Amino acid sequence: MSKPHILILGCNFAGLTTARYIHALVKEKASITIIDRKSLLTFVPNIPLQVLADINPAIDLQYQFMNFLEHDGSAFIQADVVSIDPETNTVFYKPSERAGHPIRHINYDYLVIALGNRLAYDTIDGFSEYGHSVTDTFLGNRLRNYLHRDYKGGPIAITSDIFHQGKSDKLPGGLPVALTACEGPPVELSFSIAHWLEKNQKGDASTIFLSTPAHVIAEDAGETILKQLLPMMEDMQYNYQANTLGIKKVHNGGIEFNDGSTQEAEISIIFPDWQAHSFLKELPFTDDQGFVVTDLYMRNPDYKNIFAVGDAASITVPKIGSLGHMEAEVLSQTLAADLGAFTGEVKPIAFEILCMGDMGGIKGFYMRTNEWWGGKESHLEMGITPYLLKMSFKQMYYTLGGKIPHWGLALSELLGDAAIV
Ligand SMILES: Cc1cc2nc3c(=O)[nH]c(=O)nc-3n(C[C@H](O)[C@H](O)[C@H](O)COP(=O)(O)OP(=O)(O)OC[C@H]3O[C@@H](n4cnc5c(N)ncnc54)[C@H](O)[C@@H]3O)c2cc1C
Repeated sequence: MSKPHILILGCNFAGLTTARYIHALVKEKASITIIDRKSLLTFVPNIPLQVLADINPAIDLQYQFMNFLEHDGSAFIQADVVSIDPETNTVFYKPSERAGHPIRHINYDYLVIALGNRLAYDTIDGFSEYGHSVTDTFLGNRLRNYLHRDYKGGPIAITSDIFHQGKSDKLPGGLPVALTACEGPPVELSFSIAHWLEKNQKGDASTIFLSTPAHVIAEDAGETILKQLLPMMEDMQYNYQANTLGIKKVHNGGIEFNDGSTQEAEISIIFPDWQAHSFLKELPFTDDQGFVVTDLYMRNPDYKNIFAVGDAASITVPKIGSLGHMEAEVLSQTLAADLGAFTGEVKPIAFEILCMGDMGGIKGFYMRTNEWWGGKESHLEMGITPYLLKMSFKQMYYTLGGKIPHWGLALSELLGDAAIV
C-alpha cells in the first residue's frame, strides 16, 4: 500500500518549520513534498538590521534549506502554485526556475497551505516611485541605498495601510479584528532608525513621524504594554498620529492619508495591506478575503484533509511569524495524530504575541502578550538581552534548518520575561 502523501505549499518560515515538524513525527509513515517558487528562504525579520548596517539584505538573509529537506527524505519542487482543486485533491503548478513550462499537477492526501500573502504595494498610488519598505530584500536594498547614499536628513514617515481581515462563519468565534496586518515592524523601525539618525548626526526620534490607520498603533500588543510604550515614545519626542484611515497617495514630498491629513517626508516607509493570493479567493475553503479558514487545530472544517499555517491562515492575525511557529507545532501534531504517529493530547493554538525587535546600539525590545485575546500575560522588556535573543533566533533557525526545538521558544520566554540587562 502506498504511503499517504502530504503536500506543503510554501517553504518560508511557516512551510519549512511545518514540513520539518511533520517529518519529525510521522517519519516513514508518509511521504512529504514541498512546493515553493523560490529555493531560498527569506529571513524577513532581520532585513531592517541589514538596511541600517548598509549591507545588502540578500547576502545573509536568503537561506538555503534544501539540504535539510533532503536529509528528512522530503521532496522539493521549485514551482509557482497556480490553483487547487479540493474535490479531486489536486494542485496545479508551473516550474519556476525557467520560463516556458507547461502546467503540471500533483495529488495529495493531506494539503498544508503555507503560502503567506501578497503585499499590496501595487494598490498604493505613487509607491513604486516614492515609497520605501523593508518587507523583502529588493525593497530593503533600495532603502539601504537611498538612506546611505542620498538621504541628507529630513522627516521620515513610517506608516501602514488598512488591513482587510477576512470573515467567515466557519472561523472560531471571538477572534479580535485588526485594522493593520503587522505593526511590530513599524515600531521596531522607529526605534532603530532613530538610533541610526543620531549615530550619523542626521536627526533623532523627533525626525520620525509614526502613524497608523487604527485608533492606536500596535493594538495587538495589548493595553498594558501600550500604556508603557506610548508615553515613552512621547517622552523621546517621536511624532505620532493615529486614525489616518490608511494611505491615499505617496508623492515626492510625503504621504496623503485617507482622513484628509498629510505628512511631509523625505523618506516614506510603508507597510501595505496584506492580501490573500488571488487564486485562493475563489476557493471553497477560504474566507471572504481569500485567507484559508481553519479551526484552532489549523484544519479546515469542511475539507478535513486541508490545513493552513502562518500568514495564509485566516486566524493568523496579526501576521507574525511567532504565531505561525506555534501553529506549525499544533498542525503537525494534529496531522500526525490522524496518521497514528502522535498519541499525546493535541492542544488547540493558544494565541500569543512573541516579538523581539532591534532598537539600535545592541539594544532590543521583547514583547510577550496574549491580552488582545483576553489573556493576562503581558511582558515588555528592553535592553541587551532582547537584542541577543533576536540575533540568536536567526542563528538557531539557520543551524537547525527551521526545526526549532520546543524548548527553544520556552527558553526565549524565560530569558525575555526576566531580561535584566
Ligand atoms: C520587516 C518585518 C519584520 C518582521 N519581524 C518579525 C518578528 O520579529 N517576529 C515575528 O514573529 N514576525 C515578524 N514578521 C512577520 C513574519 O516575517 C511573517 O509572519 C512570516 O514571514 C510569515 O511566514 P509565512 O511562511 O507564513 O509566509 P511568507 O514568509 O510570506 O512565505 C510564503 C512562501 O510562499 C511562497 N509562495 C507564495 N505564493 C506562491 C505561489 N503561488 N507558488 C509558490 N510559492 C509561493 C513564497 O515564495 C514564500 O516562500 C516581520 C515581518 C516584516 C515584514
